[in-house]
Amino acid sequence: MGERVVEVRDLRKSYGELEAVRGISFNVDRGEVFAMLGPNGAGKTTTTEILEGYRTRGAGDVRVLGHDPAKRERALKERVGIVLQSTGIDPFLTVTETIEMYAGYYPSRRPTEEVIEVVGLTEKRATRVNKLSGGQQRRLDVAIALAGDPELLFLDEPTTGFDPGARRNAWEVVKNLIAIGKTVFLTTHFMDEAQYLADRVVVIADGLIVAEGPPASIAGREQMRTRIRFRLHDGAPDPGDRVHRLADGTHELQVEAGETTKTVHDLTGWALDHGLELEALEITLPTLEDVYLQLTGSEVGT
Ligand code: ATP
Repeated sequence: MGERVVEVRDLRKSYGELEAVRGISFNVDRGEVFAMLGPNGAGKTTTTEILEGYRTRGAGDVRVLGHDPAKRERALKERVGIVLQSTGIDPFLTVTETIEMYAGYYPSRRPTEEVIEVVGLTEKRATRVNKLSGGQQRRLDVAIALAGDPELLFLDEPTTGFDPGARRNAWEVVKNLIAIGKTVFLTTHFMDEAQYLADRVVVIADGLIVAEGPPASIAGREQMRTRIRFRLHDGAPDPGDRVHRLADGTHELQVEAGETTKTVHDLTGWALDHGLELEALEITLPTLEDVYLQLTGSEVGT
């Protein structure tokens, strides 16, 4: 792919005896959404903050836009956007005034109206910060990070605490960022978020990368077995020994990739022959969450 925006080689970081990051390597290319997933304590914040220049690394090589972030050079800071959570924003300034104030610190800047549109705050542009909802304030945080027209944006759990509608809106904001050519480094605990937004995902557990790839195919996901579920009314004939009855009364069978069409055909043919309805029939591919749980051996969100 294209130009490397982030390059990480054998990165390590210990806190005393604890090896929080134990030799990880990955790249992020220009224009992609790169997501880092992993359970609590996996090393995501440590890695991200090393890339942002807020923490020092123990060993390894890190390049962000060609710079070593540990040097905290101004030339790098001006090209990177970090979304901080509503820290120190004057509550009596309007949305427009706030963005203009922050943009003033940067040599290059994006037109304020455009930034406001990208984050979906056009209708609130003249509203004071203290009159915004929590979700709108988070969008303003993204707008502030965008004010200096950065090439790379770090979004750390951008939708935690959002209601479902606000999450969808935030996802559209990220899509808008990509449409205007930004590169996004995302950390999230939400698998649907990574699935929807990310071009590439790394799963980190215990300080090591356990899988890397596009959400659709990571860790052989596309080769995993399809799950077919349905309900039969009491007294229906036995559907055969490939089908398991689950504790909730649902019937389930799992089929290898490539066998789904024939299996569904056989199953629905069997049901029609017996005059049965396969209630709540559901055919599901393993989700990113299924793969994640398998890789990390953990519960999502713990
Ligand atoms: P979460 O999903 O909970 O944010 P994370 O993947 O971001 O977790 P890190 O915050 O990077 O994980 O932490 C990795 C490990 O390093 C954890 O065991 C944590 O307790 C430890 N750790 C993180 N920061 C420090 C610190 N400043 N001093 C000592 N230990 C730390």
